[in-house]
Amino acid sequence: MNGPAMPNLTATIGKHGKRKWVYHDPAKGKWASRRNILSAILIVFYLVAPFLQINGNPFVLFDLVSRRFSFFGHTFLATDLYLLALLLVMSVLALFWFSAMFGRLWCGWACPQTVYLDGVFYRIERWIEGNARQRRESDDGPHDEGWWTKKIVKHAIFWLIATAMSLSFTAYFIGPEASYEMFWTFGAAHPTAMTVAVVMTALTYFNFAWFREQFCHFLCPYARIQSVFLDEHSLIVGYDMERGEPRGRMQRTESEVRGDCVACNRCVQVCPAGIDIRNGLQLECIQCTACIDACDTVMAKISRPLGLIRYDSLAGIEHKKHKVVRPRVMLYLGVFAVLLTLFLVRLSEREIVDFAVVRAPGTPYLVQEDGKVRNMLQLHLTNADARTRTVSVTLDSPVPAELLVPGSPFEITAGERIKAEAFVMIAKENITALATPIEFKLMDGAEQIGSATAKFLGPVYTGGK
Ligand code: SF4
Ligand code: SF4
Repeated sequence: MNGPAMPNLTATIGKHGKRKWVYHDPAKGKWASRRNILSAILIVFYLVAPFLQINGNPFVLFDLVSRRFSFFGHTFLATDLYLLALLLVMSVLALFWFSAMFGRLWCGWACPQTVYLDGVFYRIERWIEGNARQRRESDDGPHDEGWWTKKIVKHAIFWLIATAMSLSFTAYFIGPEASYEMFWTFGAAHPTAMTVAVVMTALTYFNFAWFREQFCHFLCPYARIQSVFLDEHSLIVGYDMERGEPRGRMQRTESEVRGDCVACNRCVQVCPAGIDIRNGLQLECIQCTACIDACDTVMAKISRPLGLIRYDSLAGIEHKKHKVVRPRVMLYLGVFAVLLTLFLVRLSEREIVDFAVVRAPGTPYLVQEDGKVRNMLQLHLTNADARTRTVSVTLDSPVPAELLVPGSPFEITAGERIKAEAFVMIAKENITALATPIEFKLMDGAEQIGSATAKFLGPVYTGGK
């Protein structure tokens, strides 16, 4: 594709390395409307997600201290490493597939960085300081009392929002109850979490008040590796150079040959990344689609077909055939489907309380004075659920047997592991084998929630010989 050469410099950094502040206007149009609706939903979702519960379990929780993680109401412990590893690999594959199909749509439409920046912080900035031109003129002009008042009000509001965001963020790691406690006791209940929340508030404020698009340009690893996922059939936001060039003011004479781009610069003025999409696909483009709306508005005004800038594949923009089904996307989907099946099967087999029975060290069995043979075993219980469980153990044996479990029933809190002793007694005349298989059933009330097998060891009764 021929056209203007791509710039060697990042759009928001000047020749001498100084930051170029981006003053952009919001776009209006069908893409902006859809994006605003999604943004409003996601802003609420990201804030309240750690406070939601499914069947008494957190909707999402990353409890690093207790090594307990919850997703969609399922709780995973450190012992569920294979399930967590599967989840991680599936997430990466989903990202590969999504990027190969839709480019960086996540960045421009769903990433919390963009959603909050565009849906909250830019809006407040516009309410207080005006449109892009007014903001630029105000910053370039004298920093008088009015300028300072607006800046102080804006930054005070930014700080308050950053505080709310960091409290919600902390709840992702310590859970809603601890988060409430931390908030109402001003950190006395959870000093470490409070320290994290304060640091997060400062970082959130810094990011959304000043760092902004620089985070996407320089810190986000996804932006750096996205080109690996894309091919010429991945959907991107692109400028149709063939149609648009040579750009310039509207055609004045019959002999003057012009493309459809009237060089109005609206696409640049609405770009939150501060780039010119007419320079081709760029690392900084987050696919927010604002330039599509801006250009479509211009095209409609001058009665030219819409879509000079459009959401299309590189092949489509170059007027070649766009392929949806390609080997790489089918491969991602295939591997994802296999892993998802494996994950769901393992998840359905997983016990709520991990239960194992092992032989206690020492004598394998003991013959009591009453003639019964006794085995001492150890019960290992781990509550993989997100709520406290009260459990007891029953015995299923092929021969009459007694079970004694001191301390039963046990109350096990979420993520807690306990060990308990269990004594099994069988009258020696009932022992018919050196090792009798027995089964322990783990009960929560009347519901069986687990089982474990063991062998009862003892001498085989030979009628007094
Ligand atoms: S908005 Fe459209 S017409 Fe205006 S400069 Fe951008 S590409 Fe050209
Ligand atoms: S170039 Fe267009 S799609 Fe990309 S960030 Fe700028 S406005 Fe958004």
